[in-house]
Amino acid sequence: MNEKTADEAYGYLYRSEDKIYPREVKGRFATLRRLAMFLLLGIFYGGPWLTWEGRQAILFDLPARKFYIFGLTLWPQDFIYLALLLIVAAISLFFFTALAGRLWCGFACPQTVWTEAFTWIERAIEGDRGKRIKLDKAPWTASKLAKKTAKQFFWISLSLFTGYTFVGYFTAIHTLTAEILSLSVGPWEGFWILFYGFATYGNAGFMREQVCKYMCPYARFQSSMFDSDTLIITYDTERGEPRGGRRREADPRKLGLGDCIDCTMCVQVCPTGIDIRKGLQYECIACAACIDACDQVMDKVQYPRGLIRYATENALQKKGYHLLRPRTLVYSAILATLAAVLISSLAIREPVILDVIRDRNTLYRDVGRRGIENGYTLRIVNKENEAHDYTLSVAGIEGIALESKSEFSVDAESVFTLPISVTAPHEYAIGGQKIEFRLESADGSGIAIVEESRFRGPTT
Ligand code: SF4
Ligand code: SF4
Repeated sequence: MNEKTADEAYGYLYRSEDKIYPREVKGRFATLRRLAMFLLLGIFYGGPWLTWEGRQAILFDLPARKFYIFGLTLWPQDFIYLALLLIVAAISLFFFTALAGRLWCGFACPQTVWTEAFTWIERAIEGDRGKRIKLDKAPWTASKLAKKTAKQFFWISLSLFTGYTFVGYFTAIHTLTAEILSLSVGPWEGFWILFYGFATYGNAGFMREQVCKYMCPYARFQSSMFDSDTLIITYDTERGEPRGGRRREADPRKLGLGDCIDCTMCVQVCPTGIDIRKGLQYECIACAACIDACDQVMDKVQYPRGLIRYATENALQKKGYHLLRPRTLVYSAILATLAAVLISSLAIREPVILDVIRDRNTLYRDVGRRGIENGYTLRIVNKENEAHDYTLSVAGIEGIALESKSEFSVDAESVFTLPISVTAPHEYAIGGQKIEFRLESADGSGIAIVEESRFRGPTT
């Protein structure tokens, strides 16, 4: 391989990335993207401030091992619901990707949303693409220093606020705020505020499109979910080529030209710096900025809109569009099943857990006229937000009786441990037999749960 060929083949691997200066674009999809940004950032920053029944509505209390999501309190035993929720989210992503390509990347991914916010700050301070390129090339002056300092100030402030909000989902936000104001933030909270703030600053301020191109695994495998009926952002080559400049009043057909005037606006607005006219590329995050840019150009030259548009491969080849196809049917069936399982299991979720642990030290004790005695430890977890009075009973053997207290109260969201003794008459307490403990609420809340255990007695 000669030197030139080696450079051509491998040179790009070692070249530093060119900085991308995306031009501001206005249009339907830009408005949609901005709305998504305000909505999603509003939910993220506002989330920890919501209250529900006197406490933070969304709080992942790791030390207490309890997750509060509005009226729902998830205990470690309930993590199956979180796992199910994550699986539903993943299948939804696959489903929407099969239907409409990288919708998530273009409009809802945190990387896109925060990059949009950071770019908005950058534009407000340094100006649009041309001004930013000029500013970066210009020598350092007081004005340049002031602009760069102002940008960094707002970027760092937003990053730290993001880190603080993120930690506010794990440490009650009011407590965290008081700790920050009194400069008494704990080491872990301080670490995560700085870590998450730094990640936001680095990813949205500097890495930007490189996160999508080189770090995001989804970008690598999302194309495997595409088929010929997936909506993708595409340049209509048949209509656009051959591209070329022309006078506004010229008839492109007479000049042998297509509708693309080769103005490169679609490239200038692209946040990943690609040319969509070269076809579908994995770097494309489907933000639709090039659609807005090209539509504006088409309006100016009075050609129909849609030279770059959402289309499917089949639609471009005039083969129609098929919404119902094996891939979408399989994804929707899995999604519907999992969603039904999740909703129904949440609906029938027990508000109390009763664990019965047999005393392992003594198999059984002969207590004379009272019969044979077994010892147990009951662990009652009241998952509800209010305290409950309970009545405990035991059944399964003729004459079986509780020797310990059978009525007690368990505080809201707490674990109550109760050692108990159970006796059964000699004549019925033979060998190992199945018994049932029944826990019922005594305050009219209708809670009832049954847990099985074994009662041991002499074998003869
Ligand atoms: S090619 Fe178009 S849709 Fe894809 S990232 Fe660039 S501007 Fe966005
Ligand atoms: S914006 Fe439209 S007309 Fe301009 S180069 Fe891109 S595809 Fe061609």
